[in-house]
Amino acid sequence: MNKAQDSIQQALTRVSEALSPEAGLVVVGGWVRDHLLGRDAGDMDLATALMPADVMRRAKAAGLKIVPTGLQHGTVTVIANGHGFEITTFRGDGDYLDGRHPEAVLLGVSLREDLARRDFTVNAMALPVEYLSSPLPNEKIVDPFGGKSDLDRHLIRAVGDPLKRFAEDGLRSVRACRFASQLGFEIEPETLSAISMRLDVSAKVSVERVFVELTKLLCGRAPKTGLQLLAESGLLDLWTPELRPMIGCTQNRHHLFPVWEHTLATVGFAVAEPALRWAALLHDVGKPPARSVDAAGGVHFYGHEAISLEITQALFTRLKVGRVFTRAVLALVRHHGTHPTDEWSDSACRRFLRKLSEDSLPLEQWGLFRMADQFAKGFGEAEKKLEHQRVMERLRRLAEAKPPLNPSALALDGRALIKLAGKHGGPWVGELQKHLLEAVIEDPDLNTVTDLQRLAQEWLNT
Ligand code: ATP
Ligand code: MG
Repeated sequence: MNKAQDSIQQALTRVSEALSPEAGLVVVGGWVRDHLLGRDAGDMDLATALMPADVMRRAKAAGLKIVPTGLQHGTVTVIANGHGFEITTFRGDGDYLDGRHPEAVLLGVSLREDLARRDFTVNAMALPVEYLSSPLPNEKIVDPFGGKSDLDRHLIRAVGDPLKRFAEDGLRSVRACRFASQLGFEIEPETLSAISMRLDVSAKVSVERVFVELTKLLCGRAPKTGLQLLAESGLLDLWTPELRPMIGCTQNRHHLFPVWEHTLATVGFAVAEPALRWAALLHDVGKPPARSVDAAGGVHFYGHEAISLEITQALFTRLKVGRVFTRAVLALVRHHGTHPTDEWSDSACRRFLRKLSEDSLPLEQWGLFRMADQFAKGFGEAEKKLEHQRVMERLRRLAEAKPPLNPSALALDGRALIKLAGKHGGPWVGELQKHLLEAVIEDPDLNTVTDLQRLAQEWLNT
């Protein structure tokens, strides 16, 4: 056990002692699953047989701080040695009428009932806190639905009747695909077919919650599996129908793979970070509508970047994605088709750097995306890597010289230009700045007061 774990363990012992043995305090859900898998376990959710009022009373009596974080769900946060623990009273869910939330939560049920309301068997295991030492005593795990055996078989399986469980809450079907991606698991066949039969319920879930799940799916270790499951189950057509035409869309000699396979590969190669993975998913979404075949049978995708941008924007608007994130993804999509080559002049490279800077897209982020996209084209990775490194080294070198990339970097500011011209400001100032910027991007040595005064004077005289 490392120091951090040791300190959590001590804090947990204090909480456990404060609540007394009959509290039946257990760790539940994701933490138990991840711990058994040897994955980095995230938040530790605790559950107890005590009612929230008892949890609060006993914790207070033992001198622990409490925060009533979610009393309507039976949750109290207890703080010990600086660690906060969310403790939820064993609960069952009342009827689900809207496909999203139970009408009521029933507190004071058994641990088994609490586990029975959970979505998947691998998420429906509990471990009494007194056994939370390492090595973990497997036989002490409370596992009424065969979660451990499904973990061993790499299966996501609904707890109970999948048709009923997906009818209660439409988010669970997207979560199933998300866990398949995060854990690299398959979805058990009956559970998978129930997803397809309950798409009408899934349609009732809020887009914000779906977007969170889709993002986790994309950032998982097996995003290809997750995306294929979305396509297979019909969830893809429900939430992201724009992606469907990519499936079966063949390409040209620059690509070894059709569009969808290339897209899956790009997602897989991209660093597991939300903007990069979403951009990987959407960068070629404009290809099917842009596809044309010439007289010689050559396949073209003229202007597909612009169409990808439009579709991405429309999709993100519908999914209510935040502005900052949307801009970051759009910038990656917009610049994915630019490939600076050795033939490019330094000034052409600087013009490209200016475009990235106008879109607030860091060069390194663009580089990460390009590498994934290049690898996913399916020809010699080693060669691609060398070529990419060469491109990046050159762009980095040029960027490090801090060339002026926007008007504010010019040696003469707007006011100085107005003074020089001896006339009122107006749209001409912006035009002149653009002209001067072009000149200094061509030749950065010209970014001096004297040179810019001369160039401005010439421009004003014409
Ligand atoms: P993560 O690593 O993403 O936090 P997690 O398994 O902890 O994974 P949470 O969304 O934090 O997932 O939920 C905690 C637990 O609550 C789950 O493990 C599961 O037991 C239960 N749960 C969460 N959402 C649902 C749901 N929609 N239906 C049924 N049970 C759910
Ligand atoms: Mg969690």
